[in-house]
Amino acid sequence: MPTRSDHAMLQRMTPVKGSCLCGGIEFEITETPQGVTHCHCTRCRKTRGTAHATNLVLSLQGLRYLRGEELLGKYRLPEAKFFAHWFCKVCGCTMPRFDEGRGIAIVPMGAFDDDPIARPSRHIHVASKAAWDAITDDLPQFEAGPPAI
Ligand SMILES: [Zn+2]
Ligand SMILES: [Zn+2]
Repeated sequence: MPTRSDHAMLQRMTPVKGSCLCGGIEFEITETPQGVTHCHCTRCRKTRGTAHATNLVLSLQGLRYLRGEELLGKYRLPEAKFFAHWFCKVCGCTMPRFDEGRGIAIVPMGAFDDDPIARPSRHIHVASKAAWDAITDDLPQFEAGPPAI
């Protein structure tokens, strides 16, 4: 188990890298994440094509693109307050995005090549969950958005 001083050191951690499928885009995170969440909202389900998105959240300063930023497609849902979808225009993979409005960066967990160490801690927007999807873990579930971050 990490000690209290270990946690302090993790504020700046060994970079954890990720990339898209075609390899044109690479990124890294350099700070300890604030959390990892399974999001079952309709927007996440559609953009990922999966039962839910699994998103890592950290500070804006903690995420950096290493290359291929010019390959990013950025779709912003007109009626959404925060929702946007960044993806590789070549291979279609969901990529991390900066959410300036909320002061956070959001990284799709599936895009990591290294183990980001952080693990999912909750489900959000469970009220929008797909009818065919069954949550089989014991993590806390929230009907709508998260209480924090
Ligand atoms: Zn790509
Ligand atoms: Zn969502």
